[in-house]
Amino acid sequence: MKSMKVLIVDDDVDSLAIARIRLKKDGYIIETASDGESGLTKARESSPDLILLDVQMPGKTGFEVCEELKADPDLSNIPVIFLSAADNVREKVKGLDLGAVDYVTKPFDIFELKARVRAALRTKRLQDLLLMYGEVDSLTEIYNRRVLMERLQQEWDRSLRSKTVFSFIMTDIDKFKNVNDTYGHPVGDDVLEKVAYILNKSIRSGDVVGRYGGEEFGIIMVNSTVEEAFVAADRYRHEIEKIVFKAKKVNFSVTSSFGVADSSGKDSLDQLVSAADSAMYKAKETGRNKVCKPD
Ligand SMILES: [Mg+2]
Repeated sequence: MKSMKVLIVDDDVDSLAIARIRLKKDGYIIETASDGESGLTKARESSPDLILLDVQMPGKTGFEVCEELKADPDLSNIPVIFLSAADNVREKVKGLDLGAVDYVTKPFDIFELKARVRAALRTKRLQDLLLMYGEVDSLTEIYNRRVLMERLQQEWDRSLRSKTVFSFIMTDIDKFKNVNDTYGHPVGDDVLEKVAYILNKSIRSGDVVGRYGGEEFGIIMVNSTVEEAFVAADRYRHEIEKIVFKAKKVNFSVTSSFGVADSSGKDSLDQLVSAADSAMYKAKETGRNKVCKPD
């Protein structure tokens, strides 16, 4: 398992040194900062898994730092544990209300601090997993439809701003129902997994592939015209055709039909998606295992 990174922000040199040395011994990667402002900078630079944050500091207080962390979408899900000399209920409540996960009173008992760090990191790991599985299709391990559509929207917005063209490719495995009917659903799942794997491996870095639906996949090709997408899609088509599946002591392969369209001349994202979708249906209707562009 990768080492977890802990950022300690504390103006008290001794307290900082004890926490750093003792936590480092437990295998954590430790970053430190001695005031709020540099703590925020370190948090942005090193994206820690947990922040230990002193409340009383000159300049920005721990509470102010925490507010800024929680307001920043890139940093808001990093758990914060407050460290404070004051064993003050009101202050604890304020810290927790600001979104901290825990509160340790200084001078801290090192074993208590370590236990609270472990607990916070355990929760963080679970949250990260949930987040990851919320975005990834559990069978094919590529982006699910929701994430694909979000990325498509982002690309659409970006292309409007930068006045560039991007393409959307849709593909559907031909006669997939026959695979399930002939070899059973576990084999069908195997086909989906391998096709997704091959697509994911074949796309250029920066492009995005996701599972659009049952046996349908979508690919976002940044900075590409429909002609370029056509060439790429034909390569993906060929890669899929080459995969050999084994079932019931027979080898078989599958083919897939592709539709490509680009963003130029489209008034909306919906228009782009339906252009790619119609092109894919044209590929189906005119013989399958081919790539089609809009008319
Ligand atoms: Mg202090």
